[in-house]
Amino acid sequence: MRYISTRGRAESLGFDDVLLAGLARDGGLYLPESWPEFSAKEIREMAGLPYSEVVFRVVKPFVAGVIPDAALKSIVEESYASFRHRAVAPLKQMNERLWVMELFHGPTLAFKDFALQMLGRLFDYVLRERGERITIVGATSGDTGSAAIEACRDRDQIDIFILHPHGRVSEVQRRQMTTVKSANVVNVALEGTFDDCQDHVKAMFNDQSFRDSVKLSAVNSINWARIMSQIAYYFAAGVALGAPDRPIGFSVPTGNFGNVFAGYAAGRMGLPVSQLVIGSNRNDILTRFFETGAMTMLPVEPSLSPSMDIQISSNFERLLFDLLDRDGAAVEATLTSFRETGNFALSPDRHQRALRLFDAFRLDDDQTLAEIRKYHQLTGELLDPHSVIAVAAADAMIRDDVPAMVCMATAHPAKFPDAVHRASGVTPELPEHMADLFDREEHCTVMANDLSKLKELVLSRRRNS
Ligand SMILES: *Cc1c(COP(=O)(O)O)cnc(C)c1O
Repeated sequence: MRYISTRGRAESLGFDDVLLAGLARDGGLYLPESWPEFSAKEIREMAGLPYSEVVFRVVKPFVAGVIPDAALKSIVEESYASFRHRAVAPLKQMNERLWVMELFHGPTLAFKDFALQMLGRLFDYVLRERGERITIVGATSGDTGSAAIEACRDRDQIDIFILHPHGRVSEVQRRQMTTVKSANVVNVALEGTFDDCQDHVKAMFNDQSFRDSVKLSAVNSINWARIMSQIAYYFAAGVALGAPDRPIGFSVPTGNFGNVFAGYAAGRMGLPVSQLVIGSNRNDILTRFFETGAMTMLPVEPSLSPSMDIQISSNFERLLFDLLDRDGAAVEATLTSFRETGNFALSPDRHQRALRLFDAFRLDDDQTLAEIRKYHQLTGELLDPHSVIAVAAADAMIRDDVPAMVCMATAHPAKFPDAVHRASGVTPELPEHMADLFDREEHCTVMANDLSKLKELVLSRRRNS
């Protein structure tokens, strides 16, 4: 399998190079040169298989020639072994046509574990084959740091440093990061803001000699391997509800467009995906885009669903590539002018083509709370402020000819206890394996807001062999 860039000017690469590169040299994102397709029979045979076996079958064509079957099998099995539900991604019925797929039984209680647990192990495998090591440095305002740490802990070829602003992340978020005890994980509490953390990370990447000497890398949200890993749960949900013999819709609480793009990819690979609903919060750039055909940037405002507080959805570029008939130059021209003017529009016929598959819906914070309350009363289920947007959007937008729609529940309600309590009067409990989180020992270095000290720390704490 070869991969091409959405901007058409970077050379095509194999899976291992795409994994390590993240972004293409021309600034584009990688996509498979052509989509592997499963026959109806192959899809039917996925029904009832263990989750990791579905992942193995879905991912195999994407890594063909780079990762042998036996190695892929163990990567996949290990990635999902730490999930706390035996079904890994269980489905629950909400009403006649709506289902929820719970994607929050991983180590950090959010759906990013599905991609990152695979990503850490894929990195480790490819680096070991090449005899290389990398150092990952990242900044977090609280939410993504723990998923990255859980993904990279104990990986031989990787050292990971995560910076968070000292005293400015919630105690649960901090403890999810700092109670990980692993020789290759370093938590830094920086005496500064999240922006300071991000600036230092950028500065380290911009220092070419430092960057080369420690082999700096990132666990980027645009990495193709993350999307690839997520395609599997669309197939698992689809076959459980009657695919390939019945069309399925999906509703996805959307930020960077990675999750919903995986659903789109599943459709390109033969799953009968008949509708994709995009849920947004008050940061509704995507919903406005699907309503009007025009993408118009506005400032980001904080909401109850912070993982969807975005200005630009980086993975949207992958859909744009198809909407513009895979014309890399057109993608580049469109996105360059978007960066400059904050605007672009699709032609009416392309907009109509997008609407054959996609619909979008927004909820503000008050509506989000009201919907959490409503579904708690109706079903007894507590939905977190991200997941509930998927369910409410599905309920509002499901088309008459869609017999079943799966709403992606992307975070455990206990990750957002304040909003859930405000809405329902119930404080969701942390799952059993996290119940002792407040008793565990923390490992964290408090550091002055000083770039050169940070670089010294990275150089001295990085393992060398
Ligand atoms: C990251 C995240 C999202 C958004 O997913 P994208 O792939 O960026 O669209 C939604 N919900 C939760 C809980 C998340 O962590």
